[in-house]
Amino acid sequence: MGRKVGASAFIFLWKLIMKRKLPLSLIILIYLIIGCNDKPMNLSTARKQVKDYYESGKYDEELNLIIKKAKEEFENVDFKENSVVIFDVDETALNNYELAKSTGFGYVYKINKEWNAEMKSPALAPVKELYDFLQNKGARIIFLTGRNFPEYEVTYKNLIKVGYTNFDTLITQREQEYRLSSQEYKSSKRAELVKNGYDIIGTIGDQWSDLEGQFHGIQVKIPNYLYLIEN
Ligand SMILES: [Mg+2]
Repeated sequence: MGRKVGASAFIFLWKLIMKRKLPLSLIILIYLIIGCNDKPMNLSTARKQVKDYYESGKYDEELNLIIKKAKEEFENVDFKENSVVIFDVDETALNNYELAKSTGFGYVYKINKEWNAEMKSPALAPVKELYDFLQNKGARIIFLTGRNFPEYEVTYKNLIKVGYTNFDTLITQREQEYRLSSQEYKSSKRAELVKNGYDIIGTIGDQWSDLEGQFHGIQVKIPNYLYLIEN
């Protein structure tokens, strides 16, 4: 377990080095501290920490800063008729925190499907603000989600219900795409959009697999402490 935590920490910190988010010396120090601790955190403690972070306002604080920085980056973009920004859905456009909390921050397939069918997700407010900002700038919007095609209609309606009323399309995953990793699937869909004439100026998502690969433009990483999609 300790080795796995150390490896994950290493990968995470390596990404920060690549993105020049932290100086190398500080990253090495953090890695040594995390890597040397080979005992896992108690699961109840971890759940409490996540809950406190989300419910104390600290999560919103972090997210608001990211959205502010994203707006500044998009200010420098020349918006054209075919400029499009790609938004992920879960934990990006839509907020499923209450669902996660209701299952003790686990994942229960049946409860997840019921939640989606009942269109219970509110918007993640700062992301909705970014959506409005980009629309006012003249960007087209496309939603690209790992949700499967049978959930297309409820996802579409949920987006409309919480205020995402104007977008070019919603892309859900088809059966023949289930074998692809999340990054392969999303990246291939972006390549199709480019082939169809879109200019992707930005990609917004809560997983690195939403953002990496080809044709992503400005990458906006929404924080998510509820789960991690490895690829
Ligand atoms: Mg997501």
